[in-house]
Amino acid sequence: MKFELACGDVMPGCPATFSEETEDALLGEVAAHAAAAHGITTITPEVAEAVGAKVRRAG
Ligand SMILES: [Zn+2]
Repeated sequence: MKFELACGDVMPGCPATFSEETEDALLGEVAAHAAAAHGITTITPEVAEAVGAKVRRAG
């Protein structure tokens, strides 16, 4: 099982993509990217829900 996310699905125009073995690892990477690239340092429940809805489960 792979968990994948295209940041552009949440933040239009962003080319970053992520692929991890677990959803926790994926969300950790996304949180680090959101802080570094988008200045989002607080993951609100709304943000977490928006991101979670875009996560693709592959494999
Ligand atoms: Zn991004």
